[in-house]
Amino acid sequence: MVSRVIPVEPFDLVIFGGTGDLARRKILPGLYRRFVSGQMPPEARVIGAARSEFDDAGYRNEVRDALVEFIAKDKLDDDRVAAFLDRLHYVAIDATGEAGWSELADLMRENVVRAFYFSVAPSLFGALAERLHMHRIADADSRIVVEKPFGRDLASARQLNQTLAEHFEETQIYRIDHYLGKETVQNLMAVRFGNVLFEPLWNAQYVDHIQITVAETVGVGGRGGYYDKSGAMRDMVQNHLMQLLCLIAMEPPSRFDPDAVRDEKLKVIRALEPVESRDIVRGQYQRGSNSASYLEDVEDEQSRTESFIAMKLHVSNWRWAGTPFYVRTGKRLRARQSEIAVVFKDAPHSIFGEEAGRHRNILTIRLQPNEGMTLGVTIKEPGPGGMRLIDVPLDMTFADALGPDNDDVTDAYERLVMDVIRGNQTLFMRGDEVEAAWAWTDPIIEGWQMRDMRPKPYEPGTAGPEESAMLLHRENRRWRAIRD
Ligand code: NAD
Repeated sequence: MVSRVIPVEPFDLVIFGGTGDLARRKILPGLYRRFVSGQMPPEARVIGAARSEFDDAGYRNEVRDALVEFIAKDKLDDDRVAAFLDRLHYVAIDATGEAGWSELADLMRENVVRAFYFSVAPSLFGALAERLHMHRIADADSRIVVEKPFGRDLASARQLNQTLAEHFEETQIYRIDHYLGKETVQNLMAVRFGNVLFEPLWNAQYVDHIQITVAETVGVGGRGGYYDKSGAMRDMVQNHLMQLLCLIAMEPPSRFDPDAVRDEKLKVIRALEPVESRDIVRGQYQRGSNSASYLEDVEDEQSRTESFIAMKLHVSNWRWAGTPFYVRTGKRLRARQSEIAVVFKDAPHSIFGEEAGRHRNILTIRLQPNEGMTLGVTIKEPGPGGMRLIDVPLDMTFADALGPDNDDVTDAYERLVMDVIRGNQTLFMRGDEVEAAWAWTDPIIEGWQMRDMRPKPYEPGTAGPEESAMLLHRENRRWRAIRD
């Protein structure tokens, strides 16, 4: 199936931090793929702006190397790469000084969309915003894109919001959570709100519980210093898992538009109950046969930071009263696997008798690997021998359903960057959402700090600490397997 690609308006996209890791690995390869798909109009330009001294040719060489490293070989074509690199420019700039700003101002064109990607440390956001205005580079239609981490607690997130608000309206600020750019996550909304089948069942009456898992096999690696100051709660739960939970739990918005969707997400965050400490398990990975322990990775044997967290949450409203949401995320687990599972209740009465077995419908939404959805349905086991029931998957793996060449199963970043150019904020976090998420997270973290709580050790290559399994066992439930 060939997807329809509608080119966006002509734009000048400035990437502050255009030589950094995020730009090389995600933003620039994503832009190249959009260019190849025909979504970048001929007048579109990308301007790298960072500290290193390059001219346009030098920057183009750097970006060519990044494309070779991060784009699949069969998608790299010399002519296309050359045509893409032609759109690139570079300005050496000092975010906190004067160097480079008037050059950047001269480079910008009138009558095209102006977007500024702040792919730099958050401590530079204020300086960038101020200079963009001082030099009249940003105007009332310009957009800025900011990255995680958006604050490390409510106070710092508020401060960042205020800093940006001094120079930009909320409608100009695009806070990226790349989980929202994933095809499956958007499909979750299509499935919920585009079909009559699911929504009537999407509540505490029919849903036993919901599980959200984001499991990684990697450790903290070279990011140890940064990670140890945040931990799984700040790095994953407050943003990514919270956003997934919002999309699962929210009421149907009246329209698929930015404020209607974000209003509903905000209500979910505000309805989250405080979590009791018995409903939280924190863990730290131990040393493996050929991998270092968390404490060795962060070079601090006293660290109390968690590399794993599992929690039981309640959304306190009519729809979800009594239906728990179990969320977990961690590093050095058995497999790289992200999924949401909606576990429906048993049929109220089994007409087939106990010997046929009891079965449950489970809707699984896989974010990785193999983005797609599966609905487990119960059927009769084929053949003679009486009525025995088995579960079979109604499987919708997007790559299968839409074809291997389908452009849409692509990286979340490129989709989100094109949304910025289109001026569509639906899949970006609003300032009040981020603050509400921190307002819920802060007391939990403060509680750990006050009690000086040590995370539970867990073996690498497992599903986390034993206590995480107990969180569900004690209620006669079990986590779905994390599989190789
Ligand atoms: P990086 O350290 O690799 O790159 C930083 C970039 O900022 C470089 O291009 C550098 O030249 C530029 N820079 C630094 N100080 C500057 C100054 N004073 N003036 C102008 N430019 C300056 O960082 P990164 O990993 O690319 O991360 C960028 C942002 O994205 C950070 O906020 C990070 O938290 C966030 N982020 C990164 C990733 C990732 O995978 N790398 C993922 C999510 C969020």
